[in-house]
Amino acid sequence: MHPSKTLVIVGGGFAGTTLARALEQRLPPDWQLLLVSEESYTTFNPMLAEVVGAAVFPEHVIAPIRAVISRTRFVMGRLLQVDARQRRLRCDTLAGVREFAYDELVLAIGQRAKLDLLPGLAEHALPLKLVGDALHIRNRVLQRLARIELTADPAERLALGRFVVIGGGFSGVEVAGSLADFLRSARRYYPRIADGELGVTLLHDGERLLPELPARLGDAAAHSLRRRGVEVQLGTRATRIEADAVTLDNSARLASHTVVCTIGTQRHALVDALAATAGVALQRGRIATHADGSVPGVPGLWALGDCAAVPNAEDGSISPPTAQFAVAQAQQLAENLLARLQGRPTMPFAYRSRGMMATTGHHKGVALLFGLQLTGLPAWLLWRAYYLSRLPTFGRKLRIWVEWTWSLFFPLDITHLRFTRTAEAQAAQEPAAASSSSSEHAHFSR
Ligand SMILES: Cc1cc2nc3c(=O)[nH]c(=O)nc-3n(C[C@H](O)[C@H](O)[C@H](O)COP(=O)(O)OP(=O)(O)OC[C@H]3O[C@@H](n4cnc5c(N)ncnc54)[C@H](O)[C@@H]3O)c2cc1C
Repeated sequence: MHPSKTLVIVGGGFAGTTLARALEQRLPPDWQLLLVSEESYTTFNPMLAEVVGAAVFPEHVIAPIRAVISRTRFVMGRLLQVDARQRRLRCDTLAGVREFAYDELVLAIGQRAKLDLLPGLAEHALPLKLVGDALHIRNRVLQRLARIELTADPAERLALGRFVVIGGGFSGVEVAGSLADFLRSARRYYPRIADGELGVTLLHDGERLLPELPARLGDAAAHSLRRRGVEVQLGTRATRIEADAVTLDNSARLASHTVVCTIGTQRHALVDALAATAGVALQRGRIATHADGSVPGVPGLWALGDCAAVPNAEDGSISPPTAQFAVAQAQQLAENLLARLQGRPTMPFAYRSRGMMATTGHHKGVALLFGLQLTGLPAWLLWRAYYLSRLPTFGRKLRIWVEWTWSLFFPLDITHLRFTRTAEAQAAQEPAAASSSSSEHAHFSR
């Protein structure tokens, strides 16, 4: 039978790809599945800190969406607009703006970084949300090391060698540990930098790191980071970022040319548009859903993952924005969509967290697993085993395993990879490309 109805999933992250995989073999024969995502790959965010610290290559923490799905049609495109009444989507694709009709629509578009939290944050700080961000931070660190070697002024050298990480949550702790390891390993290649000229400072406004974990684990994370040379400043808030300094709420000024920001997320503008045009309700900035993932008052619309506030029937709370919950919601939503298409009742999402973990650098970490608290090497091994098992595709798993094993014996990679093109070709081709692009999709297609 030729499919006459279309289920569209927008967003190729943890939630969207897990949902597509769970549905693609099981949809009724008159339904087809379309996945739209603005990148051609899915990113394994929990390993971005390892990219920053050069423990793994950036290509290995992403997987091409076409290799992850088998029977779903994939379109690389950015969703611009949803017409919930006509059930149509407008997307910016590599071939220009295209419209797609849908019968059921699932939004899994995640969240964006929020960079207006502090004066100077947007201009000077480096967010960590995408694999491109991770590579950019790593390159920036290498640029700083190269500049120190060419700088005579001692104060300037110290400011270039100070790397500040804002946020003592999971990402901040992992980036700080990873950066400290990277600097220690890279220094041997920079003979004009002295011991003591490089350092990492982690700023956290709470009294304890990793506030989602029990106090003992937060303390253990701080202890572990300090042992590897990270300056952990608790109860300290950054109030202003400048090109060469961070001002703190105690009026101190920390000289630093490099600030990594791991705090702050915000919804996509699309979500605001949906609230204005289709009456979608928001809860804590996320799309409010019923317990089964459907969006109240908008027939045919569902949402999950970081962009959605999905109630958890297990404890009545709103699901946290984590990969673990995004995957669990996708599995439940697949069942609910199939139930809806077959006229059966849907089920509420109910999930008990299995635990949480973070690395604090090589061979050290903290973990909470089914109530069991682990620190040090066991937690680190557990982190690696768990994320290795969760990586998409066997090829990715093998590559990461080889890289991890490699980095146990050899120094970390210090290649400053720039996408420099042949200058003559770039000069001749870029003006032509710019003038031939239509204004609406010029940004996307380049
Ligand atoms: C650095 C970092 C570390 C993390 N570490 C952990 C961890 O250790 N454990 C954990 O559980 N969670 C972790 N998280 C959180 C976790 O990554 C998210 O909770 C998870 O990715 C949410 O999945 P999602 O599919 O909802 O969103 P995402 O994974 O963000 O995917 C959203 C997708 O939508 C696409 N998209 C966005 N807008 C559009 C549009 N307009 N049109 C088309 N496509 C669009 C994006 O390209 C992306 O593919 C981490 C996050 C970060 C940033």
